[in-house]
Amino acid sequence: MNRINYDGVMLAMLQCVQAGERLLLHSCCGPCSSYCLTELAPRIPTTVFYFNPNLDSGEEYLKRKGEQLRLLEETGLADFLDCDYSAEDYSRAVAGLEGEPEGGARCKVCFELRLRRTAEEAKRHGYTYFGTTLTVSPLKNAALINELGFSVGEEVGVRYLPSDFKKRGGYQRSIELSKEHGLYRQNYCGCRYSRRPQREE
Ligand code: SF4
Repeated sequence: MNRINYDGVMLAMLQCVQAGERLLLHSCCGPCSSYCLTELAPRIPTTVFYFNPNLDSGEEYLKRKGEQLRLLEETGLADFLDCDYSAEDYSRAVAGLEGEPEGGARCKVCFELRLRRTAEEAKRHGYTYFGTTLTVSPLKNAALINELGFSVGEEVGVRYLPSDFKKRGGYQRSIELSKEHGLYRQNYCGCRYSRRPQREE
């Protein structure tokens, strides 16, 4: 079976953007959004939506959000829509899946939680499309994220903009842009289960 080229689908959809249409882009963090915004912002007015209840502490949440805001201030590429940190949303959603490996069933629930809230906010605020930066990571299953995005978009009634931002050197570019802006790049995905065990000295 041929794999869908979601990067190509995204570019084709963006060529058809009409005046007045807007995108609400879920962002997991500043570094991941850095490259995505350089691709999206010239093609469609974009607002970054920062909804990440998966983060393992309020301190980490504020640190990543601060870097996201700084990047937006420095580049002026997008507006920003904030959201409260609600760790309980995440804990409730992944109950029973705590022992799953990274990339397994817990991540699917985590993706869907963030995509659904983004779609709901997009609908509430009159955005034409919603999307996510999550596909820039080579560690995440872009096909799964896009399937979830389309399904959630249909349920909520907002068009999903698929992506595969790691294509065309996107992930590497996000590392370079993060360096250029001096962004904090965390070394774990976000939830407490993805924290790397500390090495014993
Ligand atoms: S590893 Fe990442 S995607 Fe998976 S559940 Fe944790 S925060 Fe979510």
